[in-house]
Amino acid sequence: VRHGLHDVRGRLPPRCDVVIVGAGITGALVADALAGAGVAVVVVDRRVPGSGSTAASTALLQYELDLELLQLIEKTGYHRAVRVYQRAAAAIAGFESLVGELGDGCGFARRQSIYLASRRRDIDRLQREAVARVGIGIEARFCNEIEVATEFGLPGHGAIVSPCAAVIDPLRLTRALLDRATTRGAVVVEWTTAILAETAPAGGLLVTTTRGSVLADRIVLACGYEVPPCIEPGMTSLHSTFALVTEPCDDPGPLADRAIVWESARPYSYLRNDGRRMILGGFDLPFRSPALRDAAIPRQTRRLESQLHRWQPDLLARIEYSWAGTFGETDDSMPVIGPVEGTDRIDFALGYGGNGIVFSLIAAELLRDRCLGRVHPDHALFDQRR
Ligand SMILES: Cc1cc2nc3c(=O)[nH]c(=O)nc-3n(C[C@H](O)[C@H](O)[C@H](O)COP(=O)(O)OP(=O)(O)OC[C@H]3O[C@@H](n4cnc5c(N)ncnc54)[C@H](O)[C@@H]3O)c2cc1C
Repeated sequence: VRHGLHDVRGRLPPRCDVVIVGAGITGALVADALAGAGVAVVVVDRRVPGSGSTAASTALLQYELDLELLQLIEKTGYHRAVRVYQRAAAAIAGFESLVGELGDGCGFARRQSIYLASRRRDIDRLQREAVARVGIGIEARFCNEIEVATEFGLPGHGAIVSPCAAVIDPLRLTRALLDRATTRGAVVVEWTTAILAETAPAGGLLVTTTRGSVLADRIVLACGYEVPPCIEPGMTSLHSTFALVTEPCDDPGPLADRAIVWESARPYSYLRNDGRRMILGGFDLPFRSPALRDAAIPRQTRRLESQLHRWQPDLLARIEYSWAGTFGETDDSMPVIGPVEGTDRIDFALGYGGNGIVFSLIAAELLRDRCLGRVHPDHALFDQRR
C-alpha cells in the first residue's frame, strides 16, 4: 500500500480545533468537510492513510443496508428506518457531486443494484420489500426469475432491481480528499498513534500520540474497527470478510459495467464488475485474529470461486488475486456516529456494516455540523444509545 500513496508527513502542531483519529475513507471525508468549513483539523494515522479496511474494500455504494427496509422498521421503528434508507439513497448522489467537485472521478460509476432472492421462499418477502421501498420514494422493482435471467444473465428466483447504486475507488478518493483538506489547512500526520485523550488543565482535550501531544477542542474517532476496548460502543461485532478479483476477461457478459449483484442469503456474497474484471466478495466469518482470518483465505476463495461460476457460468477468467479484511457490524446494520457515551466533545465516526463507505459520507455531514455547534436534523439517527 505504501507505493502509490502520496507522502503525508505533516508535523503535529501544538493545537487545533479537531483531531481526527484515523485517515481511512471516513477520516478523510470528515477532514475534508471540516477543513472546507474553516475548522483547523489534524488527522493522525498509525499507518499510511487509507491502508486500513479502506484499501481492502470492494467499494460498492449501496443504499440497501444488510437489514432490509421492512426488517429495519421492525428493529428500529418506522421513522428511523425510513430516514436511514432515504439518507443512504441520497448519499449515492452525494458521492457523485463530491467527485465532480474534486475533479478526479475516483473510479465513481453509477450501477444498478440487483438484490437476488437466494431461495425460492424469499420471493414473497422481496416482493413486499420492493413495494415498501417504492412507498418511501426509492426507485425499485421486483423482477421475476425469467426477467433476471434475460436482462442480466443471472440465475436466481427473482430480484429487487434498483437504479440507485454505484462503485468507487475508495483509496483514490481518500487520497484526493486528504489532498484537498491539506490545501485548506488540514495537517495529516502518518505513522502516529493516538494513545490517550484527557481534559487539559486550561480547558480543551490533550491528545497524546506517539509523536507528541496536541491540544484540541474536539476529537473524532474514525479509527475503523480498532476502537479502544474501554470506549467500544458495545453493539458491534467483528467479521472477517473475503474477496477475489479475476484477470481481465474478453467478454464480461451481460452484467458488464451495468450492475452490482448481491443476495438475500446470510452471510451473503456480492459481485461487481470493474471494466473487464469481476470482483466477488463476502462469505464472512466471525473475526478471531488477523492470522486465522488470513489462513482462511484459500478455503473462502474456493467458495467464492464456485459462487462466481454459479452466477456467471459462461465467464472464462482466472482468479488473479484474493484477499481478506476485517470489518465491524452492528446488530441493526447501522453505523455509530455521534458522541462517545459520557462525553460531549469526542465523537464516533464508525461506518460499520456493508454500507460503511456510504455511512462515512453521512458521518462527515453530521459531524461537521456538530463541530460547528449546529443541530443537524439527523444528529441522533446513529447515536450509540439509539
Ligand atoms: C473486503 C472488504 C470489502 C468491503 N466492501 C465494502 C463495500 O462494498 N461497500 C462499503 O460501503 N463498504 C465495504 N467495506 C467496508 C468499508 O471498507 C469500511 O466501512 C471503510 O473502509 C471504513 O473506513 P474507515 O476509514 O472508517 O476505516 P479504516 O479504513 O480501517 O481506517 C481507520 C484508520 O484508523 C487508523 N487508526 C486506528 N487506530 C488508530 C490510532 N489509535 N491512532 C491513529 N490511527 C489509528 C488505522 O491505521 C486506519 O488507517 C468492505 C470492507 C472490507 C474489508
